Amino acid sequence: MSTVRYQGRMHEFQKELMGRYYAELTRGAETGQGHAAWMLISGNPVELVRAFDMLPVYPEVNALQLGVRRQSLPLIQKAEELGYSIDNCAYVKADIGLFFSGLKAPFATIPRPELILCNYVGCGVYLQWFEHLAEYTGAPIFNLDIPTVRGPSGRARPDDVRYVVGQLEELIALCERITGKPLDQAKLRQILQWSKETGDLWAEIKSLTKFVPSPFDAYFDAVTLMGPLYCLRGTEDGLTFFREARSELAERVRQGLGPLPDERFRIVMEGPPPWPYLRIFRDLFTKWGAVAVASTYSTVGGLWEFGFRHDPDRPLESIAEHMLEYNLTNRSFHQRYQQIRQYVEEWGADALVIHSVKSCRLFSAGQGDMREYFSKELGVPTLLIESDLEDPRYFSEAQMRNRIDAFFEALEHRKLVKA
Ligand code: SF4
Repeated sequence: MSTVRYQGRMHEFQKELMGRYYAELTRGAETGQGHAAWMLISGNPVELVRAFDMLPVYPEVNALQLGVRRQSLPLIQKAEELGYSIDNCAYVKADIGLFFSGLKAPFATIPRPELILCNYVGCGVYLQWFEHLAEYTGAPIFNLDIPTVRGPSGRARPDDVRYVVGQLEELIALCERITGKPLDQAKLRQILQWSKETGDLWAEIKSLTKFVPSPFDAYFDAVTLMGPLYCLRGTEDGLTFFREARSELAERVRQGLGPLPDERFRIVMEGPPPWPYLRIFRDLFTKWGAVAVASTYSTVGGLWEFGFRHDPDRPLESIAEHMLEYNLTNRSFHQRYQQIRQYVEEWGADALVIHSVKSCRLFSAGQGDMREYFSKELGVPTLLIESDLEDPRYFSEAQMRNRIDAFFEALEHRKLVKA
């Protein structure tokens, strides 16, 4: 059986930086200073928030951290006792449970918000979730209305960009009122420059998995990179992390090293991971020598590998374009097909694995059709498995193992026949 043998400097550095990020949140909670803004991962204007020295807090990241530590279930149940339905997104329930447990997580104490910064980028749950948080906390809520990208071009219309820029200007005025200081344009440009360079490095890192063997797993190890990409984007620390990660991973390419001793299958992963069972889930693929060379989940915060960069010379326009167009959750299902197809073809994958999660309709609705399209129309071997991203009650290891083993046995047979 293959075992994962890669835990490099990048992982240690990530732990250190995320530890510092959470220590800053705890300091904010304990001192009451720092102007915490509670925000969402997909399509957020974190650069703007950082320009005001506000603390970006991500309830989704907190929920997944609780999931990884297997601490989410009592919080989910607390929210259900309060009336949240069994069918609600479990991120929401873990987060609401955390709020009503005093905001004390094992990794940080979360500061109360001075701003609830919501945005509509495809997920309708966002609106209700953050409206509830505004009601519970009493903090002002600002909702950015981001039109869905329409039409076959998949491009944001200039009118839509202007519409979002107008809202960003209103948001700036609100942040000025909250922090008591005007927007520092030079500072915003510097932050955007750091984000732009981070985008360059992230895109470069994602292209390294085209090498055989892939130097890292673009699903399981990409998670390590996603923390700094979202929580520390627009900071010098975040950029330093990506410089080091790029150099370490490029070195692994030169040495021909992959995360497994033997890369036998290259797969594309669709859907978020089951956080409470991440290690077990990974091992089900590791056992078969399967390495993810690309994943859609790693693009929930943006699509840099397809060309997007923040632009310090067009600060608000480029923030708007990121939210509108270069954002997985704001795209159509056909664009997601296109993205996966590109991964399969350009990254040289043998198969597509779809992890359908009960909690998230945004990700999971339509995945049955997706499987049909890839397996029947394109002839790409496709496996669909089901559990949840946060709620451990929906993970059945035995059932999952049977499906995965049967799939890879068939894939192995197919490879042998082809050879
Ligand atoms: S439904 Fe999905 S995208 Fe929406 S908040 Fe829940 S996990 Fe996130």
